[in-house]
Amino acid sequence: MTDHARGRVLDAGGPELLERLDHLDRRDGSRETLAAPRSPDRGATPDYDVVIAGGGLSILYAVPFARAGLRVAVVERAAAGTAHREWNASRPELERLVEAGLCSRDELDEDLIVARYARGLCRWHGGGTYAVRGVLDCAVDAGALVALARTRATALGVTFIDRTTALGVAPGADAISLLLRGPGGATRELVTRVVVDARGASSPFASADLVCPTVGGVLRGLREGDGPREIRPDIGEILATTEDAIGGRQYLWEAFPGRAGETTVYLFHYARREDATAPGLVELYGRFFESLARYKDGDATLVRPTFGLIPGWSRLTRAPASGHPRVVLVGDAAARHSPLTFCGFGATLRSLAPSVEAVCLAADGAALALGTWVHDSPVHSGTGALALLLASLDARPERASYANELLDVAFSVLAEMGEESFGRMLRDEATAEELVAFLRATAARRPDVYREVFGRLGTGPVMRWGAGIVGALLRG
Ligand SMILES: Cc1cc2nc3c(=O)[nH]c(=O)nc-3n(C[C@H](O)[C@H](O)[C@H](O)COP(=O)(O)OP(=O)(O)OC[C@H]3O[C@@H](n4cnc5c(N)ncnc54)[C@H](O)[C@@H]3O)c2cc1C
Repeated sequence: MTDHARGRVLDAGGPELLERLDHLDRRDGSRETLAAPRSPDRGATPDYDVVIAGGGLSILYAVPFARAGLRVAVVERAAAGTAHREWNASRPELERLVEAGLCSRDELDEDLIVARYARGLCRWHGGGTYAVRGVLDCAVDAGALVALARTRATALGVTFIDRTTALGVAPGADAISLLLRGPGGATRELVTRVVVDARGASSPFASADLVCPTVGGVLRGLREGDGPREIRPDIGEILATTEDAIGGRQYLWEAFPGRAGETTVYLFHYARREDATAPGLVELYGRFFESLARYKDGDATLVRPTFGLIPGWSRLTRAPASGHPRVVLVGDAAARHSPLTFCGFGATLRSLAPSVEAVCLAADGAALALGTWVHDSPVHSGTGALALLLASLDARPERASYANELLDVAFSVLAEMGEESFGRMLRDEATAEELVAFLRATAARRPDVYREVFGRLGTGPVMRWGAGIVGALLRG
């Protein structure tokens, strides 16, 4: 099955994409070791103010940094500005691209947004279907967006160092050295004021305790229509299950129509990062191809594979951090996005504006808390434990329907709270009070959730969960 899955990714995506898949599947082996360069001498003249290590989504930061007058370089192990993702976001969130100078409003509406949805659906196997408006209602041409970011950044003087791997760092008194390995294995050092670590799940500092393995891509040939096994171009399917958990893993689907005739479809599951038994991405691709026909009808062809390991942080363990003020984590390395929806694109959009001021301060040597760089939301202090629960399901066959039952109750509660609250919860905008109301109503309908939470997570994490929610309530 794995050879078949690799073959289909190779056919649709080419050898470089297959290499990326295999690189991610090497798990911790894919993380670079911390080979350390020499610390810069005091008073050394840095080559750059900021080096962004990793040129995936976080290439977006290069433009506002350069517009703030900073000298910026982007180091990418492949080629920066070539996305292997498809992104969805809510329309107001996308406005941040205009504010950051990445595109005009016309470019956003006419070139970058490729589909808009009247509503989004969440449906649970054996349960109901729940509609919500204004959530992840725009599909963005990710390739065009990051290519545009590269063009704009280049025009602003940003240096791109492609096919080069960022290795270790060595902080000095007023700058930091970064060791690079270029094509052919040659190494060299750069000196910069700040390293922005945007290496995603491969960052050596990406210590978040959860991970969302995701595979799929852009498909053609799915049948259009109104049925649950068909695609409607004006409806995004945000979350859906078609079967009960298998061996303690609840597999979830999502399906977002894009350009005419195309739909992005993903299969994913929640996992603990340290779970050595979790299937790799190639194995997950095998399940994707094997079970797609049970999700959607049609004669599907994979035209663009997209996949990845999205880190998630439960907020119940130590926060991912670099340990040095001149190395700042962003994006998946920081994992401050929702641990339930894993919407790192939206979280990065929210982080663009605060990052500019902070990077200027950090370039001057100020020690900054991570929260001043990347956006976090009070609601995550409560949803992290739910994600941890979904990553820790009872594997016994008689408990296989538990996740679907709980998710169905949770989403029926959200639907009853009203469209505004439902939307805010999925857009990471819910207040701590809304979160508590949601948790209480869900637990009232499924009181056994208390036993499940204590049994699966343990007393210590549950106490930290409660403390996190109280903290969010006090912060208002
Ligand atoms: C399949 C999939 C679909 C998704 N869909 C959505 C969505 O619809 N909406 C949403 O909000 N979020 C979505 N996400 C999440 C979102 O894509 C991520 O949160 C986001 O891409 C994280 O950005 P990043 O810059 O931190 O990491 P990435 O975009 O993963 O970029 C990391 C980059 O670092 C490079 N790199 C790694 N190691 C090194 C090294 N040592 N030296 C140099 N470069 C290195 C990699 O090659 C890569 O280009 C999706 C994720 C996946 C995997």
